[in-house]
Amino acid sequence: MKKSEAEKRIKELRELINYHNKQYYVYDNPVISDAEYDKLMRELEELERKFPELVTPDSPTQRVGGEPLPYFTQVVHRVPMMSLSNAFDEGELRDFHRRVTEVVGNDVEYVVELKIDGLAVSITYENGIYKTAATRGDGEVGEDVTQNVKTIKSVPLKLDFPPDKSPAILEVRGEVYLPKEDFRKLNEEREEQGLPLFANPRNAAAGSLRQLDPKVTAKRPLAVFIYGLGYAEGIEFETHYEALQFFKRIGLRVNPHIVLFDKFDDVVDYCLSWNEKRHELPYEIDGMVIKVNSLEQQRLLGSTAKSPRWAIAYKFPAEQKTTVIKDIIVRV
Ligand code: NAD
Repeated sequence: MKKSEAEKRIKELRELINYHNKQYYVYDNPVISDAEYDKLMRELEELERKFPELVTPDSPTQRVGGEPLPYFTQVVHRVPMMSLSNAFDEGELRDFHRRVTEVVGNDVEYVVELKIDGLAVSITYENGIYKTAATRGDGEVGEDVTQNVKTIKSVPLKLDFPPDKSPAILEVRGEVYLPKEDFRKLNEEREEQGLPLFANPRNAAAGSLRQLDPKVTAKRPLAVFIYGLGYAEGIEFETHYEALQFFKRIGLRVNPHIVLFDKFDDVVDYCLSWNEKRHELPYEIDGMVIKVNSLEQQRLLGSTAKSPRWAIAYKFPAEQKTTVIKDIIVRV
């Protein structure tokens, strides 16, 4: 492709992706499937790779997708809440491992987690007491959802610190989601009431959490899985896995399918084993997340403007199925 043609297509793709980002992140109302969205993003990434001089800082490839809704109080994250880069097959997973070992050597462990399909929140505890919660927003600035997250039963309001480890500040990150069965019931009720339906559990969860009236959130059976550390004062961890074990111990809800591996072949097998098994879960996952375990190695690897280099999302192959929800058509 000639540079002038690439320039034209890049402009088109950016406009399209920005439009879909707005529908998805701001209005919680996507109009295309995630697989279709990922294809557009891939095309843009490839063109920008071929023509690096056409990359601009405001390209959707360089920024975290969402933006905070203006009617929420805005919260500046102490540590940015980033996106994840994607691997769509085994080859791309192995490319990730190669990039990691080039920086940190071959002695590397990985933690593999389910990629819960909900929305990210950061929750801050001060001296073990629930203080604030925020959405990811554009990664730097999120929405204050303190009162809404407080209504989620799996979010403890007080942490159970052991006497020797009681951080003054602990900011954890996790995914708020709506279980599949509750999503089905919610849409059934909305249909009876003549209200617009949610396209999928992820959008129902986001729409339920980003409410100005926390009483509406309280009526929706949202749940949370905590998957990472944001920021802490008064405690240090050497590995991601150790932090997750600590979170479990102090009463935070951590997903039970998280596994630590020291061989990348086992990482790959575990990821692929969930291609089918995921349908048995009571909540939706859209992939697996692979994270370098050592926090020192994570620091060495660092991040791009949009996502850490020490983690990757393995996305499941898209299933060829078309669902029609009233006037919303979602191909999954
Ligand atoms: P992402 O969803 O691919 O990955 C980052 C997010 O993963 C985190 O913010 C967190 O919320 C989540 N996550 C779940 N489990 C996790 C775990 N165990 N550890 C860490 N993170 C975990 O990235 P993104 O930038 O939020 O969104 C991009 C994706 O959103 C696209 O690939 C597409 O699937 C979807 N999308 C769809 C549309 C559409 O129109 N259909 C539009 C925009 C985005």
